[in-house]
Amino acid sequence: MARCVALIAHDQKKDDMAAFARDHRAWLAECELVATGTTGRRIEEACPELKVRRLKSGPLGGDQQIGALIAERAVDLLIFFVDPLTPMPHDVDVKALMRLAIVYDIPMALNRATAEALLRQEKAGA
Ligand code: PGA
Repeated sequence: MARCVALIAHDQKKDDMAAFARDHRAWLAECELVATGTTGRRIEEACPELKVRRLKSGPLGGDQQIGALIAERAVDLLIFFVDPLTPMPHDVDVKALMRLAIVYDIPMALNRATAEALLRQEKAGA
Protein backbone atom coordinates (compact mmCIF):
# COMPACT_ATOMS: atom_id res chain seq x y z
CA MET A 1 0.00 0.00 0.00
CA ALA A 2 1.26 3.53 -0.78
CA ARG A 3 2.88 5.43 2.05
CA CYS A 4 0.72 8.27 3.36
CA VAL A 5 2.66 11.49 3.78
CA ALA A 6 1.11 14.46 5.61
CA LEU A 7 2.46 17.86 4.60
CA ILE A 8 2.08 21.19 6.39
CA ALA A 9 4.00 24.45 6.12
CA HIS A 10 3.54 27.69 7.97
CA ASP A 11 3.17 30.76 5.76
CA GLN A 12 6.84 31.81 5.84
CA LYS A 13 7.83 28.24 4.95
CA LYS A 14 5.44 27.61 2.08
CA ASP A 15 8.01 28.53 -0.58
CA ASP A 16 10.38 26.00 1.01
CA MET A 17 7.63 23.37 0.94
CA ALA A 18 6.87 24.07 -2.74
CA ALA A 19 10.59 23.73 -3.56
CA PHE A 20 10.82 20.55 -1.50
CA ALA A 21 7.82 19.08 -3.35
CA ARG A 22 9.35 20.00 -6.72
CA ASP A 23 12.67 18.40 -5.78
CA HIS A 24 10.99 15.18 -4.67
CA ARG A 25 7.99 15.10 -7.00
CA ALA A 26 8.83 11.64 -8.39
CA TRP A 27 8.89 10.04 -4.94
CA LEU A 28 5.87 12.01 -3.72
CA ALA A 29 3.91 10.87 -6.79
CA GLU A 30 4.15 7.32 -5.47
CA CYS A 31 2.70 8.32 -2.09
CA GLU A 32 -0.73 9.19 -0.85
CA LEU A 33 -0.51 12.89 0.02
CA VAL A 34 -2.59 14.78 2.55
CA ALA A 35 -2.07 18.43 3.47
CA THR A 36 -3.60 21.39 5.20
CA GLY A 37 -5.55 23.61 2.82
CA THR A 38 -3.14 26.31 1.73
CA THR A 39 -0.07 24.09 1.86
CA GLY A 40 -1.86 21.57 -0.36
CA ARG A 41 -2.79 24.25 -2.86
CA ARG A 42 0.79 25.51 -3.02
CA ILE A 43 2.09 21.96 -3.60
CA GLU A 44 -0.44 21.38 -6.37
CA GLU A 45 0.49 24.69 -7.99
CA ALA A 46 4.19 23.80 -7.83
CA CYS A 47 3.62 20.22 -9.04
CA PRO A 48 0.34 19.93 -10.96
CA GLU A 49 0.93 16.20 -11.47
CA LEU A 50 0.67 15.52 -7.72
CA LYS A 51 -2.71 14.63 -6.26
CA VAL A 52 -3.09 16.09 -2.78
CA ARG A 53 -5.98 15.48 -0.44
CA ARG A 54 -6.52 18.98 0.87
CA LEU A 55 -8.03 19.36 4.34
CA LYS A 56 -9.08 22.58 6.04
CA SER A 57 -6.57 25.36 6.46
CA GLY A 58 -4.42 24.82 9.56
CA PRO A 59 -5.89 27.63 11.68
CA LEU A 60 -9.41 26.43 10.77
CA GLY A 61 -8.87 22.87 11.96
CA GLY A 62 -6.59 21.34 9.32
CA ASP A 63 -3.84 20.58 11.83
CA GLN A 64 -6.36 18.78 14.00
CA GLN A 65 -7.70 16.86 11.00
CA ILE A 66 -4.19 15.59 10.32
CA GLY A 67 -3.86 14.78 14.03
CA ALA A 68 -7.04 12.70 13.78
CA LEU A 69 -5.60 10.80 10.78
CA ILE A 70 -2.45 10.11 12.80
CA ALA A 71 -4.61 8.76 15.65
CA GLU A 72 -6.32 6.46 13.11
CA ARG A 73 -2.85 5.28 12.05
CA ALA A 74 -3.53 6.54 8.54
CA VAL A 75 -0.36 8.65 8.29
CA ASP A 76 3.11 7.13 7.87
CA LEU A 77 5.20 10.30 7.78
CA LEU A 78 4.63 13.90 8.87
CA ILE A 79 6.54 16.71 7.18
CA PHE A 80 5.78 19.99 8.89
CA PHE A 81 7.88 23.02 8.00
CA VAL A 82 7.49 25.14 11.11
CA ASP A 83 8.14 28.88 11.23
CA PRO A 84 9.92 29.48 14.54
CA LEU A 85 9.94 33.27 14.23
CA THR A 86 6.25 34.15 13.97
CA PRO A 87 3.80 33.77 16.88
CA MET A 88 0.76 31.84 15.71
CA PRO A 89 -2.72 32.01 17.22
CA HIS A 90 -3.24 28.31 16.47
CA ASP A 91 -0.03 27.28 18.25
CA VAL A 92 -2.11 25.07 20.52
CA ASP A 93 -3.25 23.03 17.48
CA VAL A 94 0.32 22.72 16.27
CA LYS A 95 1.41 21.40 19.66
CA ALA A 96 -1.49 18.94 19.74
CA LEU A 97 -0.53 17.62 16.31
CA MET A 98 3.11 17.17 17.29
CA ARG A 99 2.03 15.46 20.48
CA LEU A 100 0.00 12.89 18.50
CA ALA A 101 2.94 12.26 16.16
CA ILE A 102 4.98 11.46 19.27
CA VAL A 103 2.24 9.33 20.86
CA TYR A 104 1.83 7.25 17.68
CA ASP A 105 5.58 7.28 17.07
CA ILE A 106 5.54 8.31 13.43
CA PRO A 107 8.55 9.94 11.77
CA MET A 108 8.12 13.71 11.96
CA ALA A 109 10.29 16.27 10.15
CA LEU A 110 9.98 19.82 11.38
CA ASN A 111 12.53 21.32 9.01
CA ARG A 112 13.90 20.65 5.57
CA ALA A 113 17.15 19.02 6.71
CA THR A 114 15.24 16.36 8.64
CA ALA A 115 12.74 15.90 5.81
CA GLU A 116 15.63 15.27 3.40
CA ALA A 117 17.14 12.75 5.82
CA LEU A 118 13.82 10.92 6.21
CA LEU A 119 13.33 10.78 2.45
CA ARG A 120 16.83 9.39 1.91
CA GLN A 121 15.89 6.64 4.35
CA GLU A 122 12.52 6.06 2.68
CA LYS A 123 14.06 5.96 -0.78
CA ALA A 124 16.63 3.45 0.44
CA GLY A 125 13.69 1.30 1.51
CA ALA A 126 14.75 1.31 5.15
P1 PGA B 1 -2.30 26.05 5.82
O1 PGA B 1 -2.16 25.62 7.33
O2 PGA B 1 -1.55 25.08 4.99
O3 PGA B 1 -3.77 26.02 5.51
O4 PGA B 1 -1.73 27.44 5.72
C1 PGA B 1 -0.89 25.42 7.88
C2 PGA B 1 -0.83 25.87 9.30
O5 PGA B 1 -0.62 27.07 9.52
O6 PGA B 1 -1.00 25.05 10.21
